Amino acid sequence: MSETHPQFPQLFTPLELGHITLKNRLLMGSMHVGLEEDWFGLQKLGAYFAARAAGEVGLIVTGGVAPNRAGWVKPFAAKLSNGWEVRKHRYVTDAVHSEGGLICLQILHTGRYSYSPLAVAPSAIKSPISPFKPKALTAGGIQKTIRDFVNCAIKAKEAGYDGVEIMGSEGYLINQFIVQHTNKRTDAWGGSYENRIRFPIEIVKQTREAVGSDFIIIYRLSMLDLIPQGSTWDEVVVLAKQIEAAGASIINTGIGWHEARVPTIATMVPRAAFSWVTRRLKGEVEIPLVTSNRINMPEVAEKVLRDGDADMISMARPFLADPNWVKKSREGRVEEINTCIACNQACLDHVFQGKRSSCLVNPLACHETEITIEPATKRKKYAVVGAGPAGLAFSTTAASRGHDITLFEASDRVGGQFHMAMQVPGKEEFVETIRYFEKQLELTGVTVKLSHKVTEEELKQGGFDAVILATGVTPRQLKLDGISHPKVLSYIEVLRDHKPVGEKVAIIGAGGIGFDVAEYLVHQGESPSLNIESYMAEWGVDMKHESPGGVNAEEHSEPPARKVTLCQRSQGKLGAGLGKTTGWVHRTSLRKKNVTMLSECQYTLIDDQGLHLTVKGRSQVLAVDNVIICAGQMPRTELSQPLKDAGISVHKIGGADVAAELDAKRAIAQGTKLAISL
Ligand code: FAD
Ligand code: NAP
Ligand code: SF4
Repeated sequence: MSETHPQFPQLFTPLELGHITLKNRLLMGSMHVGLEEDWFGLQKLGAYFAARAAGEVGLIVTGGVAPNRAGWVKPFAAKLSNGWEVRKHRYVTDAVHSEGGLICLQILHTGRYSYSPLAVAPSAIKSPISPFKPKALTAGGIQKTIRDFVNCAIKAKEAGYDGVEIMGSEGYLINQFIVQHTNKRTDAWGGSYENRIRFPIEIVKQTREAVGSDFIIIYRLSMLDLIPQGSTWDEVVVLAKQIEAAGASIINTGIGWHEARVPTIATMVPRAAFSWVTRRLKGEVEIPLVTSNRINMPEVAEKVLRDGDADMISMARPFLADPNWVKKSREGRVEEINTCIACNQACLDHVFQGKRSSCLVNPLACHETEITIEPATKRKKYAVVGAGPAGLAFSTTAASRGHDITLFEASDRVGGQFHMAMQVPGKEEFVETIRYFEKQLELTGVTVKLSHKVTEEELKQGGFDAVILATGVTPRQLKLDGISHPKVLSYIEVLRDHKPVGEKVAIIGAGGIGFDVAEYLVHQGESPSLNIESYMAEWGVDMKHESPGGVNAEEHSEPPARKVTLCQRSQGKLGAGLGKTTGWVHRTSLRKKNVTMLSECQYTLIDDQGLHLTVKGRSQVLAVDNVIICAGQMPRTELSQPLKDAGISVHKIGGADVAAELDAKRAIAQGTKLAISL
């Protein structure tokens, strides 16, 4: 019998699946990362998964792979149906097995979510997230699709996978069969609930018959659709029981269709926000249940298991952020975990832009064969000015290679602008990145000089081989009459200095920071991101699941703490430049708080009356107590030229390099890559 883990006894209890035992309760959830379709992608994908297997993940699930062309995410997306494709997948399974890991292939048929003219669905109903109207499958087409699922599972076994996950949630084809919202059929595959669930049950049953008992079948079951006309709770229970009877080994939790208007994984979603859904199914089936969504730290995962919400934890993005998450947890090195902050900026947003995924806090993710950190051939001495994300990433990476690093920071703490970001309700997670870097500074032996605004003279006399300028940005100074009026504040005075702000506020500038300042100002009391009940009430989720899909509850939003007007000069909707997968959340959240959004503004004057401006050519005065300037930034580079003039080699990274469109993704990636190159 294995020993009980002192800190995380539940997480590190092995899980028996009959023919195989999982070494712990951590499952790496399915994520499409953009390597699946790349010509040499499967070797790279193999290296990516192998790193997570070496990091001791109990069971890995691949990104979705289609069983046939109609099921493609988009034309020529990943598919597994023939011998040639089987051979390619061997790169992945061999790499994972050589590290002692286990891996399942996710079989994903997108149905009406396919971004392709070949799309099929139970009924010819277009989805709101694809321009292609699907063709309704014929009865023969349905039988053929079931055979394709089964064939895909057989091929997965031939390719060396330890099992498959049958994707039955998030609004994909199987889910489209199950609910009346998308299934209007009148034959044996539509109408009654019994008919609508025939499709997934046949898939699981026939797959089990074909692959035998020594193969894992995970079924991802949509337990909370979050769409109108979704499944009721009683229907979810019926389906789960029949999926178990059909031969599944594990049931995984699916939350929310892609078209749902409730955020389910973004950073403002509380940690473990949906484990109560999985808990309701406990006791209804005997096979293990996996829960998921916004679990990113071992204490949270352990608590979910201890509370009896599930038998296993699925995390996806946290393994992009840190391939060694499980190993570090097992070894009690929790402070060393590079935590996923759920920003979506380098993973999901990339997928939606057709780019390869990576991770904001770990730019090595999905580039395991291309970006590697090797010991330096010659130890050098570098000064780093500024301990924001760019300076921290450079310092810790360069020091880990053996360089001698001195990091100067003007303020009394490291983290730079992340200290302001984490003040915003829904961005509390950003503190974890600061904690991670603080620990790395200690482990890599960086000399940190806080409250030390370094001067040109010190740098010249320090005997450094080069100076890395990571000094960040300064807010753009606007040329506007009345800009020095006492009611004008910068976002720094609001978020860092906590200057008092009146009840009526105008914000100039509606980029990421303008939106964040608005969010900060309209909230009062505890952030809904820290309280699951308030969050569900705010987004209208019916926690009793009495309504089909679990969304018909009345939304209950706390009244806004202030009346805020958000302004931009350009045309079009505000927040157009925000993240692909999160912009709608920010806009919806501010609308719930009655924030007025004005585009095509020209600002003329700020005085005792308030902000004078024209909106689409019409003059008006916003009678506000404060005007907050969030109008972008300029690089802070005053040290650069004097150092260069003195013959010192200078490298600029992060905001000090280019302020326009700066974000932490670029700052960390630039710092890391420079440190690898020197
Ligand atoms: P900074 O973080 O600005 O750090 C520069 C550091 O240099 C500072 O600590 C400063 O004190 C120090 N310094 C300057 N001069 C000297 C000197 N002479 N001597 C010593 N030290 C000096 N980005 C995202 O990607 N996603 C988000 O969701 C996000 N949200 C944000 C929300 C808010 C409210 C704010 C303000 C920013 C947000 N950002 C976000 C932006 C992100 O924080 C920045 O892009 C990132 O911090 C830039 O990193 P940096 O290291 O270049 O500069
Ligand atoms: P930003 O995104 O560049 O937005 C600046 C805003 O100020 C824009 O709305 C711009 O729009 C306006 N503006 C620019 N020049 C102006 C001028 N001279 N007078 C009046 N208005 C002017 O910058 P930011 O909001 O300061 O954010 C800085 C960076 O932090 C961003 O690049 C962003 O990536 C990052 N960030 C990201 C997030 C996130 O959620 N991902 C959140 C916060 C910050 P108009 O020109 O139309 O007025
Ligand atoms: Fe998590 Fe952001 Fe990294 Fe995606 S990019 S894995 S959400 S930290």
